[in-house]
Amino acid sequence: MNRTQQMSLGSALEELARTPVAILAGGTDFYPALQDKPTPDNVLDITRIAGLRTIEKNADGWSIGAGSTWTDVINACLPPAFDGLKAAAHEVGSVQIQNAATVAGNLCNASPAADGVPPLLALNARIELASVRGRRTVSLQDFILGPRKTARQADELMVAIHIPPINESAIGRFSKLGSRRYLVISIVMACILLDTDEQGNLTDVRIAVGACSAVAQRLEDLEQMLLNYSIHTDLVSMVTPSMFSSLTPIDDIRGSGDYRLAALHQMVNRLLSSCVHDARALLSSNARRIDQGGDFDGDQEGDQEALGIASQPHAKGEGREFLLL
Ligand SMILES: Cc1cc2nc3c(=O)[nH]c(=O)nc-3n(C[C@H](O)[C@H](O)[C@H](O)COP(=O)(O)OP(=O)(O)OC[C@H]3O[C@@H](n4cnc5c(N)ncnc54)[C@H](O)[C@@H]3O)c2cc1C
Repeated sequence: MNRTQQMSLGSALEELARTPVAILAGGTDFYPALQDKPTPDNVLDITRIAGLRTIEKNADGWSIGAGSTWTDVINACLPPAFDGLKAAAHEVGSVQIQNAATVAGNLCNASPAADGVPPLLALNARIELASVRGRRTVSLQDFILGPRKTARQADELMVAIHIPPINESAIGRFSKLGSRRYLVISIVMACILLDTDEQGNLTDVRIAVGACSAVAQRLEDLEQMLLNYSIHTDLVSMVTPSMFSSLTPIDDIRGSGDYRLAALHQMVNRLLSSCVHDARALLSSNARRIDQGGDFDGDQEGDQEALGIASQPHAKGEGREFLLL
């Protein structure tokens, strides 16, 4: 197999259908997983497939091609709802890892501590799989079945991650707790995405948590409980430990299950406070524009930029919690 020549998606899928092939993207999970074993003979390097490294807006929302790296996500012009995903991108390994590693590889590797999963769960991501038999899409929730286990069939390739349309007023935040500043596996991570109506009532609440169960999950009971409340109420006091009862964090070298739950509670409170702070700022900015006879043309991205809230702390480590409790 020629490992350097560009190939079409069609011929890659034919190759996958013909014979068992190991799929390689950035290789940052693939090679460490080999440990002492030699590289398999049949490797399909998807970075050779033309057209997979794209991030684009279309009629159905947003699409992140399977060849897109974490650095591509960081550099892409995306609405504020993607700020959680961008913050996670900054937390994946080091800049060198982000330059090579793909978002798709992070999902296909299906680690319970994969930083990409909670932000993409919060964005209601869907996974597109292609084979010579055709194409299908599954929700990210249904794609990851367990640690290192996905719904992908042997002859299928993940070709894209699709994000449904999302309001410009939606705000996304991500945080990861690690035991040191760089190159660290998450002890706990969470992503919150909030949207409000013009009165400041919560119209959309999405909270996803990783490293606290075999598969990262959305906290649907907590989401439902917060929905329709005003951002001017004390939302943080409404979050109680019982809201995390669906989680089953393990005890391991990085922390006990109890520690993870306590850390997560703090993390969710902080993310919620941060989202609410920015939602209030956006609301008062819009109110000012109406008072001043502004045209209220829905250019909330512009408003957020003016307020400095479109750019969540994106520099390495700034979205990270280190010491707590
Ligand atoms: C030093 C270091 C630090 C790291 N730090 C972090 C971290 O902080 N957070 C984190 O989440 N991860 C971290 N990782 C893990 C890794 O970098 C990420 O999971 C990365 O996103 C994997 O992408 P990749 O392109 O390198 O995937 P690869 O290693 O190429 O592939 C990973 C798996 O997915 C499969 N695969 C890849 N693409 C496809 C596709 N399109 N269709 C079907 N199957 C596919 C491969 O066959 C393989 O099984 C780290 C890794 C290293 C080496």
